[in-house]
Amino acid sequence: MSQHQPCQNCARPLAGRTAIVTGASRGIGRAIAIGLAARGANVAVHYHRQASLAAETVNACLDYGVRATAIQADVANETDVAGLLLASTELGPPSILINNAGIADYGLAMEMSLARFQHILAVNLTSVFLCTRAAIPYLRRHPHARVVNIASMHGIAGAAMEAAYAAAKGGVIAWTKSLAKELASLHITVNAIAPGAIDTDMLAPFDADEKAAIVEATPLHRLGSVKDVAAAALFLADPAADFITGQVIGVNGGLLM
Ligand code: NDP
Repeated sequence: MSQHQPCQNCARPLAGRTAIVTGASRGIGRAIAIGLAARGANVAVHYHRQASLAAETVNACLDYGVRATAIQADVANETDVAGLLLASTELGPPSILINNAGIADYGLAMEMSLARFQHILAVNLTSVFLCTRAAIPYLRRHPHARVVNIASMHGIAGAAMEAAYAAAKGGVIAWTKSLAKELASLHITVNAIAPGAIDTDMLAPFDADEKAAIVEATPLHRLGSVKDVAAAALFLADPAADFITGQVIGVNGGLLM
């Protein structure tokens, strides 16, 4: 091929691949799922409760001429996760796993019940363990397999009123680095993204003044968008990111450096 001819595969570097995106019914997961489809990947669109939103994500993926399907699961439930992996193989063996599903939580640690604490850890951290463990038998078959974990800036810096969430996300970061070491010999890269404040349903508990205060404190002076986070995930999913593993990419407008 001449140096000046456009590369036919460059626009769809993930053609023929299958990706699982947890929590893809809305928010960041939805943007990642659609971005993966735009790059040619078949996408298993996981959701928990919002079936109609997941169907909308599937339709947006199908617009790119790939295969996509919505799969329901509670990612904190081992049996559900096994079903999620099995159902995703209908699209072909998954070689990209985006662990994105998560829930935020706000409240004083001293008032938090044990059940609530355990639930936050289960949905944000145990889910990453369950999905990754279930995916490894498929991921290991591909030479450019990817795991991308959506952590949080709070997992690095901590956050008052969000201690359980921050602890879970800090766990995701330590898990990411550990798995990067453990899975390197299988050519599976494992990286994390640590978003700052991203404008999704998750920010609903914050009023306008609180959001304005976050913007004020952010060097780039705005909230993040789902596309900002998706861009980092798509970069890590690309075959060109083959030599990047065990890293945490901050997507926070400079709020945490
Ligand atoms: P949203 O609240 O918009 O979406 C959350 C997603 O997680 C939904 O798809 C939801 O499914 C799914 N989900 C929730 N609970 C469960 C469960 N028990 N089992 C399976 N799926 C579940 O969140 P965001 O898009 O904002 O967040 C995505 C990720 O990014 C999360 O991990 C979050 O912690 C992280 N993050 C977000 C930030 C932000 O400011 N928005 C900042 C830092 C990190 P359904 O729609 O079916 O209920």
